[in-house]
Amino acid sequence: MNKPPIIWLNLSLFVLTFGTAITLVPWRGITHGFDGAEWTAFVVLAFYSGLSITAGYHRLWSHKTYKANAVVRFFYALGGALALQNSALHWSSDHRVHHKHVDNNDKDPYSANMGFWYSHIGWMLREYQAHRYHDYNNVRDLQNDPIVMWQHKHYLALTILMNIGLPALLGWLNGDVWSMLLLAGLARLVVVHHCTFFINSLAHIWGSQPYTDKNTARDNPVLAFLTYGEGYHNFHHIFENDYRNGIHWWDYDPTKWLIKGLSWCGLATDLRKVSEERIESAKLQMQLKRSQNRIAGRKDAEELLETLQQEYERLKQQLLAYYQAKKELLDARRSHLCVKDMLPKVAELKSRLKLQQQSWNSLTATCR
Ligand SMILES: [Zn+2]
Ligand SMILES: [Zn+2]
Repeated sequence: MNKPPIIWLNLSLFVLTFGTAITLVPWRGITHGFDGAEWTAFVVLAFYSGLSITAGYHRLWSHKTYKANAVVRFFYALGGALALQNSALHWSSDHRVHHKHVDNNDKDPYSANMGFWYSHIGWMLREYQAHRYHDYNNVRDLQNDPIVMWQHKHYLALTILMNIGLPALLGWLNGDVWSMLLLAGLARLVVVHHCTFFINSLAHIWGSQPYTDKNTARDNPVLAFLTYGEGYHNFHHIFENDYRNGIHWWDYDPTKWLIKGLSWCGLATDLRKVSEERIESAKLQMQLKRSQNRIAGRKDAEELLETLQQEYERLKQQLLAYYQAKKELLDARRSHLCVKDMLPKVAELKSRLKLQQQSWNSLTATCR
């Protein structure tokens, strides 16, 4: 089969930046050393460009999980140019197709079923799906955002300004242009490139699937650390409209913290969140499916399957009852009604749910 033509611009860009980053940067480090200001700029620009992709390109523009003030969008547009991952319009168009046709080798631009290399970087090196980029049909809404269109129109100039102009300026202020260009410009660019590319490759290969196994996306806290919180990708693919990826407070998700922080400052609004009930139901359904698959073929399978189904129905009912009562309580609180009489019922449902959950856990443990 004939492979599509190589995109020489992308290939030379990736080879050149990677090649020079692994040679010139250590060489400069050995011969000149890097000072504190250069390392600080490296970290700050890595977070700035990475978060512009995850909070801006991804959770704001691709998925509309919240609304952001024009100043924030302007900074995302500049940070996105610093990350050098194409314009927000183009990126979001790709990403929406990825969600719509996930794992479909003909349609998903970075289908994980094509292997690690392809989903990580290979998809950008040849004109695999060039036909898709004529009208940006699936991002019509973004074409109404003047900041998105401004960035798209001036993308090349902005990337040069942000990747060369900004580090050069910082280097000039710090008294060493070359060291700053190499560390905060080049090394930072390559590190952020590959860390964010991991979301398309490793986050579809390595990790657990607590919410769904209908696609290859995985949850992985190690990857979350490298990807500004995007490593909770299994959750993200089932609930793509949630502004969070790591839903627990202890999950490392700096993108979520940034969005929440912006909302506290009045710079972000309408943060969308999936209900706990839907999240728990998805998890429960996945546990049922996994246990059913595990016991298939066992001698006592029939009996166990029946018990499993019954316990599942019971737990699901209790789950719905508890969340319904909790919702009523919240509504009443919001309307400033007296909720004293409602509290014992909610507490009772909660403890019943906990008991049922314990019995479900021990039942699924026997299915291992
Ligand atoms: Zn996404
Ligand atoms: Zn994905």
